[in-house]
Amino acid sequence: MSVNLEAFLYLVASICFIMSLHGLSSAKTSKMGNLYGMVGMALAVGTALMGNGLSSYSFIAGGIIIGGVIGTFIARTIKMTALPQLVAAFHSLVGLSAVFVAYAAYQAPEAYSIGAAGSIYRSSLFEMTLGTIIGAITFTGSIVAFGKLQGLIKGKPLTFAGQHFVNAALGGAIFLMGTIFVLSESHLIFWVIVALSFVLGLMLILPIGGADMPVVVSMLNSYSGWAAAGIGFTLHNNLLIITGALVGSSGAILSYIMCKGMNRSFFSVILGGFGNDDSAGPEGMKAIEDRPVKSGSAEDAAFIVSQAQNVIIVPGYGMAVAQAQHALKEMTDQLKKAGINVKYAIHPVAGRMPGHMNVLLAEANVPYEDVFELEDINSDFSNCDVAFVIGANDVTNPAAKTDPTSPIFGMPILEVEKAKTVLFIKRSMAAGYAGVENELFFRPNTMMLFGDAKKVTEDLSKALHDV
Ligand code: NDP
Repeated sequence: MSVNLEAFLYLVASICFIMSLHGLSSAKTSKMGNLYGMVGMALAVGTALMGNGLSSYSFIAGGIIIGGVIGTFIARTIKMTALPQLVAAFHSLVGLSAVFVAYAAYQAPEAYSIGAAGSIYRSSLFEMTLGTIIGAITFTGSIVAFGKLQGLIKGKPLTFAGQHFVNAALGGAIFLMGTIFVLSESHLIFWVIVALSFVLGLMLILPIGGADMPVVVSMLNSYSGWAAAGIGFTLHNNLLIITGALVGSSGAILSYIMCKGMNRSFFSVILGGFGNDDSAGPEGMKAIEDRPVKSGSAEDAAFIVSQAQNVIIVPGYGMAVAQAQHALKEMTDQLKKAGINVKYAIHPVAGRMPGHMNVLLAEANVPYEDVFELEDINSDFSNCDVAFVIGANDVTNPAAKTDPTSPIFGMPILEVEKAKTVLFIKRSMAAGYAGVENELFFRPNTMMLFGDAKKVTEDLSKALHDV
């Protein structure tokens, strides 16, 4: 393939990726966005495989077969609720590949046309070092994020006195080692950089807990993009540079948007320190159990809902766990048939990944015009008869407005407490992801509907027939 044709095809693939990102920015155009992404990726991989530098396809075929089998297995068996941790795990692999590619280039510079062993071009050594540092930080940081999202590591932030000083010292040491490596090409120093960056990745993500994990996930997404761009420089591959930069910058923009949505400053999240509330530990939960709570049956709820004029549904992580979106859509159709106005309210960090609720509702064919973002619907709660909270908790918690010591303080919430009646579907009195008690459960206008979100919604639908 001629160099010009290769450059042209890469350019087309890059445009496809940009169109894909544009399409993915709205639910209506997201299918088209995905299609552009797939076409771009097919073009990119096809062009790379037909490129001039390839001498053997056997390793590539082996990689495609092994990776394809593992990928297909994971895709077929993964539960929707485990997607966020899967994404974190995949980010860690992008980071590790950046380290491997940098090491391969360092070991065989001739193969990458970046000079010869012992006299690699300074600019290439610099790119290699940068890719290695970002890749190694992404690797361990993503593993911690995976552990937290999977529940293997406690969400509680691990903080200690002088933590910021240690991180700054680590950053300084990495900078120094990087400079020495670029000047000396020392094998030992390369691995010192990798080791220090691994530790920095752990130190950066371990202190972040509670409700700030969404920002971390999108931030690691951004890091993995920059790591890929770094590999692109080492491999002299323009498409990888462009794609990495697209992922890196879109991840950074998403982190910024999520910080704004949660009323956090980006730096306060990155520097850690927010997280689980100690009062949500066993002592805190005991206090919860001792207080009276009004709970009702599906029949009680059906009666209340059937009397309403305006109902706002607030889905959260529990809806995803129970896969209750289809049952919810059926119930909504029933209510609409009875002349009741129904809207859905989406909090920017509801669920466990950006857009989690939108994806599930779209899967159940909920019309886009019924779905409203927080800032567009919050004022409607005071005029609504029933706020129907299905598997959501933190995103409704008024402690975010009233308790300055709460780890979610400052995060805007869906103000369900302003509705005449609040129905909460959840299985128990347990706290949500941030581990914070929710005062709303004890309010006189709240009725708890204990049980699995799908089962309770189905029972409620049945009961609605009989009202
Ligand atoms: P929460 O985690 O606050 O609450 C979910 C509630 O669902 C729980 O209290 C749980 O209570 C209930 N639940 C779980 N399973 C079921 C089930 N099968 N049936 C019924 N209820 C169930 O979720 P929210 O969506 O309100 O808030 C999201 C939280 O996750 C925020 O703190 C956010 O910061 C964090 N987060 C968000 C990410 C994102 O990108 N969106 C990423 C990472 C974290 P019970 O056990 O009693 O049933």
